[in-house]
Amino acid sequence: MAKVVVFIEQREGKAKKASYELVAASASAGNETHAVIVGDNIAGLANEAAQFGANKVHLIQDAGLKMYLGEAYARALTAAIKNINPEIVLAAHTPMGKELMPTVSVHVNGSLATDCTSISFSGGKLQLRRPIYSGKATAEVEFVGGGLQMATVRPNSVGLPKPDTSKTADATNIAVDLSSLKTKILEVVKGNSARPDVTEASVVVSGGRSLKSAENFKILEDLADTVGAAVGASRAAVDAGFRPHRDQVGQTGKVVSPACYIACGISGAIQHLAGMRTSKVIVAINTDPQAPIFQIADYAVVGDLFQVVPALTNEFKKLKE
Ligand SMILES: Cc1cc2nc3c(=O)[nH]c(=O)nc-3n(C[C@H](O)[C@H](O)[C@H](O)COP(=O)(O)OP(=O)(O)OC[C@H]3O[C@@H](n4cnc5c(N)ncnc54)[C@H](O)[C@@H]3O)c2cc1C
Repeated sequence: MAKVVVFIEQREGKAKKASYELVAASASAGNETHAVIVGDNIAGLANEAAQFGANKVHLIQDAGLKMYLGEAYARALTAAIKNINPEIVLAAHTPMGKELMPTVSVHVNGSLATDCTSISFSGGKLQLRRPIYSGKATAEVEFVGGGLQMATVRPNSVGLPKPDTSKTADATNIAVDLSSLKTKILEVVKGNSARPDVTEASVVVSGGRSLKSAENFKILEDLADTVGAAVGASRAAVDAGFRPHRDQVGQTGKVVSPACYIACGISGAIQHLAGMRTSKVIVAINTDPQAPIFQIADYAVVGDLFQVVPALTNEFKKLKE
């Protein structure tokens, strides 16, 4: 058993389920699990964290933490770690986790493994797996030397159990000094999509260069909206201006690990696979039976996406009725 801190990522008072996956994984392994929530007016999340298994919840609340600012959040999480004195610190491998944890690991002199796709605990030690060489191989990682063990874990890697809604949190507040910060947020420009982010969604429908235009992505959006999916894209589609960069999946885009990834007209270049090969089920639709994406697909549809995708959407609509 170890003392584990899980950083609960929240935006606008809504926590990421990937954080609760880590709380549940730690608690179910019998660890003393501490959830740390940073923000402003976030006390409402304390019970949620307890319901996924946190033994103790620590709140760091300040008007200056209302919006995510790397420098301020790093100070807050560092203060929490110094206060709780854990053996292990976990965070989701999201854009926030990717920025925050390396900074904090320096502040607390911890060892950090990023982008892990599996975690387990044995005798107070973290055991991790992480993809290397763009996902072509997997490394098993364990820390040596007895210092603080830290890891970021890819969302959807460990699964989310049902919360125990009878539980309430034992929450305490931790203070943080936010004076003399060197950065501040001037403005946040929000995307206008109501769909989930590709890193969060349990189903991702992605399209490639073969969509030929931004307008043609409408057929993928129809499928995505029917099944509650996010819309992703290859870099070729993004470079062509069909989709914004935030939708790009791959080595220089986002890394996703959904329950189901539907690749439509995507060849399966190594840089694309680096961002999606850990998806649980991969469906590929491609006119070329030799397309590399078929080598990792669980379901291979050799066909024209402009016919197959609308047909799929119709079938899902019928199933929903
Ligand atoms: C340093 C570096 C970083 C990179 N990072 C990324 C990254 O993050 N993400 C990424 O995706 N790429 C990345 N790339 C680019 C990558 O190498 C590929 O060029 C890119 O993924 C190809 O995109 P695509 O599959 O959409 O296009 P293409 O390779 O052109 O493939 C189109 C596919 O669609 C099929 N097709 C054509 N018409 C139809 C149809 N009507 N119906 C069904 N199938 C059809 C074709 O058979 C083909 O397989 C990176 C490259 C480099 C060098």
